[in-house]
Amino acid sequence: MDKTRREARSAPVSSKPQKLPAQLAFTLWDCDCDSMDHDGGGEASAILRQLEDLKASKSEIERQISALEARLQEITLPQPNGSVSNGSCPPTIPSVGSGYGHDLSPQMIYRYSRHLLLPSFGVQGQSKLLKSSILVVGAGGLGSPVLLYLAASGVGRLGVVDHDVVELNNMHRQIIHTESFIGQPKVKSAAAACHSINSTIQVVEYQEPLRTSNALEIMSNVILNSSLRFDIIVDATDNAPSRYMINDCCVVLGKPLVSGAAVGLEGQLTVFNYNGGPCYRCLFPTPPPTTACQRCSDAGVLGVVPGVIGCLQALEAIKIASAVGEPLSERMLLFDALSGRIRNVKIRGRSPQCVVCGVKAPFSKQQFQEFDYENFTHSPLTPLPLKLNLLQPDSRINSKEYKGKLVSGEAHVLVDVRPEHHFKIVSLPNSLNIPLPRLEARLPEITSALKEKEDQRGTDSGSGGQVYVICRRGNDSQRAVQYLQKMGFTSAKDIIGGLEGWAHEVDPNVPTY
Ligand SMILES: [Zn+2]
Repeated sequence: MDKTRREARSAPVSSKPQKLPAQLAFTLWDCDCDSMDHDGGGEASAILRQLEDLKASKSEIERQISALEARLQEITLPQPNGSVSNGSCPPTIPSVGSGYGHDLSPQMIYRYSRHLLLPSFGVQGQSKLLKSSILVVGAGGLGSPVLLYLAASGVGRLGVVDHDVVELNNMHRQIIHTESFIGQPKVKSAAAACHSINSTIQVVEYQEPLRTSNALEIMSNVILNSSLRFDIIVDATDNAPSRYMINDCCVVLGKPLVSGAAVGLEGQLTVFNYNGGPCYRCLFPTPPPTTACQRCSDAGVLGVVPGVIGCLQALEAIKIASAVGEPLSERMLLFDALSGRIRNVKIRGRSPQCVVCGVKAPFSKQQFQEFDYENFTHSPLTPLPLKLNLLQPDSRINSKEYKGKLVSGEAHVLVDVRPEHHFKIVSLPNSLNIPLPRLEARLPEITSALKEKEDQRGTDSGSGGQVYVICRRGNDSQRAVQYLQKMGFTSAKDIIGGLEGWAHEVDPNVPTY
């Protein structure tokens, strides 16, 4: 059965299953620095603090106003021919609920009228949506539009899982959060935003990381009340172990999974475990190498790209919840932001050999709880910035020690091994930018830079001249020092913690990103 026939004309569908790119790595923690200039001293800081306090109060007052307005609307039925504040199409519905052969209240009819006007959606679709419950894992770049649209469209119960806090350098894409929530839990911020859009829905907050120890309970919501369970799961996370874990949990519990990913300028979307369709493991039985899993905090992401994919995830969740349309199962949508192209590719169906959903080895709850996803994917469930430790202590120097070398005027060469576009964001004075992959080819530049320094000082230490290496966080600099020492620069040292370390320990005016 070819489900692809109804695809939009502009989105050609490949007739054959295609080899897919390794699942993109996904958003959550991100770059794009927003450096604040704190010059101006105490007065500026005091004003900033005052502003933050006022914004927080304003946000709380707005939340209370919208809750009270909604409450008032619930208890005050609209008057026939009465006026409505936004002036458009006042409802002229006589009192209560049914009597019309459905269970939508007059307020619901008014609020969701544009949905009801859609012949293919109508009262039936909206009624199902209002009774549905959807869990969104991750309140970041993907989760933001998912939650906003699901709240606005009237999903009866929304769950949101996230352990993280709102950060300024994520706000270019995590549009559900506002500045007044910086430093506060994302679930609190997201729930407040959902309620301010639609105070009639229930939002369940889980301020914790999803783990094998809590995933079954959260997804089936047995902790709160056995009758409160989630029908559909939306994966809006950004790392491989979470993807496998959420997929397996959905298979164990028999729930459809709307999966999206976005990094850089590309995104992808599909629905797993739906009506006998494949699961994530059917497609990717073995995890991609960790090097293939880019994260936004390293690779960058244009904010609107997860926005596009998140909107499409919300759409798929709404289609499944309302039983309208044809969910994107056994197909994958690929989005290329630069060319503006959207492609639909057919993907293989459920694999009988799949270790979680295959015929031979259905995954049990116990197997799920005992499975080590971090070990399986060689990456952590809650990724922290990588901290390598490749060098002996005498091959390393911290930022303060390096500052001391600068002050004492020690002749040396500082090599910055970050990519050129990182170097353009911020760099230390007098550093030589040689990106790590180009180090081998550009070794002579280090030799001649050293010679120049030594000529200036009238010393000659040959190839043993002092070289310091810096990068963003102190990982690539260690790799570079390993290589340089092998190539004869025996006293090369890395600056521990990179530019971030420098910014934290020596000069807070150096922006981090
Ligand atoms: Zn499977």
